Amino acid sequence: MSKRAFRLLQPRKRIALVAHDNKKADLIDWADYNRAHLSRHELIATGTTGKQLEDKLDRPIKKLLSGPLGGDQQIGAMIAEGAVDVLIFFWDPMQAQPHDPDIKALLRLAVTWNIPIACDRATADFIFTSSLMHEEYEQQLTDYSNYLKRKV
Ligand code: PGA
Repeated sequence: MSKRAFRLLQPRKRIALVAHDNKKADLIDWADYNRAHLSRHELIATGTTGKQLEDKLDRPIKKLLSGPLGGDQQIGAMIAEGAVDVLIFFWDPMQAQPHDPDIKALLRLAVTWNIPIACDRATADFIFTSSLMHEEYEQQLTDYSNYLKRKV
């Protein structure tokens, strides 16, 4: 049997936040409610979401490109590199988005790398009330070695 690989997540988590336009008010309200909790973590966001969060929380946030201009893909790359620990992604189930493939790619990479994902406020509340948010956590990684060694 192959040895399980894991990443050790620190108590200070690197949290990526993204909200589609119709969901931004919801995310900003949630972040405001959880501002004390969020202050213990590092925040990263797509451009417009990040700007709104910065204004509301009055603290610096690492802002990437706007989602449809590549921001979702930047977060996906950060997840693959182990630079994001938690994804809060309030996507809009009622409106088609021009960057639908990027959204799918981001959600796919988050699952590929076993990242906790909240796509709605209730799940974000459940994640944020977990004691694991303040502790070290051994994040198990799927063993992709057979895939990497495949004959092509
Ligand atoms: P935005 O991007 O924060 O720049 O609006 C969000 C998105 O991915 O649609």
